[in-house]
Amino acid sequence: MTEFDVITPRNENELLDAIAANQDAPFRFGAGFTDLVPELKKNSNGAKINVINLAKVSGDSFKSIVRHGDDFIIGALATAAEVGANKELSDAFPVLNRAAVSLASRQIRHVATVGGNICTASPAGDILTALVALDAECELLSTNKAIRLIPLKDFLLGVRKIALNKNEVLRSIKLKGNSQYATQKTGDVQHLSDVGHLQDFGHLPDVGHLKNNIRSDFIKIGTRKSMECSVVSLAYHFCIDANGTILQAGIAIGSSAPTVMYAQSACDFIIGKNIDSFTQEEINEFANKVLSYSNPISDIRGSAWYRKRVLYNISKSVLEKEEHF
Ligand SMILES: Cc1cc2nc3c(=O)[nH]c(=O)nc-3n(C[C@H](O)[C@H](O)[C@H](O)COP(=O)(O)OP(=O)(O)OC[C@H]3O[C@@H](n4cnc5c(N)ncnc54)[C@H](O)[C@@H]3O)c2cc1C
Repeated sequence: MTEFDVITPRNENELLDAIAANQDAPFRFGAGFTDLVPELKKNSNGAKINVINLAKVSGDSFKSIVRHGDDFIIGALATAAEVGANKELSDAFPVLNRAAVSLASRQIRHVATVGGNICTASPAGDILTALVALDAECELLSTNKAIRLIPLKDFLLGVRKIALNKNEVLRSIKLKGNSQYATQKTGDVQHLSDVGHLQDFGHLPDVGHLKNNIRSDFIKIGTRKSMECSVVSLAYHFCIDANGTILQAGIAIGSSAPTVMYAQSACDFIIGKNIDSFTQEEINEFANKVLSYSNPISDIRGSAWYRKRVLYNISKSVLEKEEHF
């Protein structure tokens, strides 16, 4: 076990002072501590470290989920439960709601934060996968109070590696709204999975309220339905016009490569096509494009071969409009 002292700043200025004071020492941030504590228990090189506890930092910029027109800013300290229960956010981005309500268990969702899920940079991060599909942007605050914006896709450098400088902290996540793509809001193309087993977890996107121009979901394959990281996951979010033409698409895959991957060529392949008119050949080609971003490992929960087969099949199901798991 790594020994540690905890420093608990109460506001943004105290936080930046604490970061500045620790530049020459090994330190870590802790938010919900659901990843950090198991990690510190497992690993030790004998050196004691400081943990800067973010949980008590007051102020909206770290904690709130704020809507600006159609865009959203999610504080890094927002919990999975808060994301899952936020109606406006869930209606705009069902994929994010699905990811949040499928994370771990009810108890963990009440402490696990969005920032922690991102900064752990696990290839199996559920909220992380949804946010990559949504092409989210990270807002990083540094000790000199400067803000650096970086696309989440670029923030992820590898297994548990992120592009965070030592004098920075992740303050919030920015999401662009759907209206920038939607021309008309008619037609019924929403696609939600497994409403039944998720019903008691948070706010479920309201089909009527959704204006029906979105197809958006998080497909999580695991060996059981809770307290389980994904064996494979796929997040997608499509904006579609009244005629069924796909105006914008975002697709990300989890537990399929060293880090969460954005399937750019699969997105490019379907943008401009009609959601209801894909041929079987096009669906197969789409699934192959998603698969080309995977490079999974074999472990106790699934072989690389199995993960690839599952990813291929769930990718096809996105365009085939089948029910998920
Ligand atoms: C039993 C169990 C089941 C789980 N199941 C799932 C699951 O199904 N799906 C899933 O995705 N995850 C799962 N997890 C992992 C974990 O709960 C999530 O990753 C969670 O979102 C982490 O958030 P946290 O606030 O607890 O992070 P912490 O443990 O506090 O921090 C995690 C890492 O992020 C860093 N960090 C945190 N906040 C910031 C910040 N604002 N700026 C910079 N760095 C920061 C910390 O230094 C640390 O390295 C599970 C964990 C447990 C223990």
